[in-house]
Amino acid sequence: MFESLSDRLTGVLKDLRGKGRLSDADIDATCREIRLALLDADVALPVVRSFIKKIKERAKGAEVHGALNPAQQVVKIVNDELVGILGGETRRLQFAKTPPTVIMLAGLQGAGKTTLAGKLAKWLKDQGHTPMLVACDLQRPGAVTQLQVVGERAGVSVFAPHPGTSIGGGENELGVTAADPIAVAQQGIAEAKNKQYDVVVVDTAGRLGIDQELMAQAAGIRDAVQPDETLFVLDAMIGQDAVSTAEAFREGVGFTGVVLTKLDGDARGGAALSVRELTGQPILFASTGEKLEDFDVFHPERMASRILGMGDVLTLIEQAEQHFDATQAEATAAKIGSGELTLEDFLEQMMAVRKMGPIANLLGMLPGAGQMKDALAGVDEKQLDRIQAIIRGMTPAERANPKIINGSRRLRIANGSGVKVSDVNQLVDRFFEARKMMSAMAGQMGMPGARRNQR
Ligand code: GDP
Repeated sequence: MFESLSDRLTGVLKDLRGKGRLSDADIDATCREIRLALLDADVALPVVRSFIKKIKERAKGAEVHGALNPAQQVVKIVNDELVGILGGETRRLQFAKTPPTVIMLAGLQGAGKTTLAGKLAKWLKDQGHTPMLVACDLQRPGAVTQLQVVGERAGVSVFAPHPGTSIGGGENELGVTAADPIAVAQQGIAEAKNKQYDVVVVDTAGRLGIDQELMAQAAGIRDAVQPDETLFVLDAMIGQDAVSTAEAFREGVGFTGVVLTKLDGDARGGAALSVRELTGQPILFASTGEKLEDFDVFHPERMASRILGMGDVLTLIEQAEQHFDATQAEATAAKIGSGELTLEDFLEQMMAVRKMGPIANLLGMLPGAGQMKDALAGVDEKQLDRIQAIIRGMTPAERANPKIINGSRRLRIANGSGVKVSDVNQLVDRFFEARKMMSAMAGQMGMPGARRNQR
């Protein structure tokens, strides 16, 4: 996400490096470039205007700061202002004093509401809450079933009208018994109270375009359930249309926060950079894929650093903390030093790293990763899958000491894991080489447990 904007901005700011002083003309030229980059990224014009105005004022009035050279100062100003338009401080979800907290989702059809309901439920569950989903999208065929499927995947309960029954509804104009979404919403909340769920996520219907009926229905549900949070779900890929859609929902239903979806497909970032300024409401979460775990709290500061190519080291550290076991990591480090690393250790470490997400995403969070894009694109997850399959095909004794794997075992392992014998050979050879090299490096670095001059 934001790749092209990030490339442009880092390029512009790089050009300032090496200048001892910045003249007003330098600042004007830089601002012109930044302006073009933002416009190309589909950022709404009023947002671009006010952004550039602030940068210019601050850059021209900047005091000479001891620690930062002039170019760094401009980078800092741009960073601060980016954080500002992305919303400043991270906005956390507000919970009701008396449960259940009601969260209503609103947005166009296809924006990703139902998918989000599942993600949000899983996230809430991971935070120790007991969420329940309520299916009020009775418009889109299959939406109720879809919510039931994501609910099941997330391991949370879903309240939905049974097909063919009418909760507060009746026969519609086609003679089909249909439930009334407002009644379903109300019953859902009552059920949550009864069964002591502490958060209720209400999925509502969307249309392909904005229409009055949709707005009236969403407003009706809002009035019936009195949500603590109404989240406007916005597909980041719709570009400039995001502005008018957000406006329409603000007027029609009102919302307390925004969730950006499909950021994984949005290289430009216009919606993300405009929506806060234009609607006055903060971005709470970001979705970056179709899977339940492709979802996170939106941190303006981290996002700004990422856009400016300064990496998102904080997120990386947080993910590492979640998935790494420090004692185990230390034990592995000691084994590396003493040259005793086994394929079992290697497999464990590899799985711990991969739990944090696709390798390319992880590397993408590192500073300067913007320039390594081609290399990142070459990281082949399938190759990693193959390595894992090969090691899994070995017995514990073989993983501890791959030297004992003879020709016929190599063939069995290759067949069992769907690879060629040469792949197994290559993995074992490389493992020995790497173990030797790492151990020697650990010796040179004076790591504890390392044997010096180990060959
Ligand atoms: P709804 O109509 O608003 O309920 O939208 P859905 O939840 O059904 O999502 C519409 C489509 O977008 C589905 O195919 C989802 O898998 C997909 N989708 C949702 N969120 C994301 C996301 O963050 N990234 C990507 N790439 N696809 C998403």
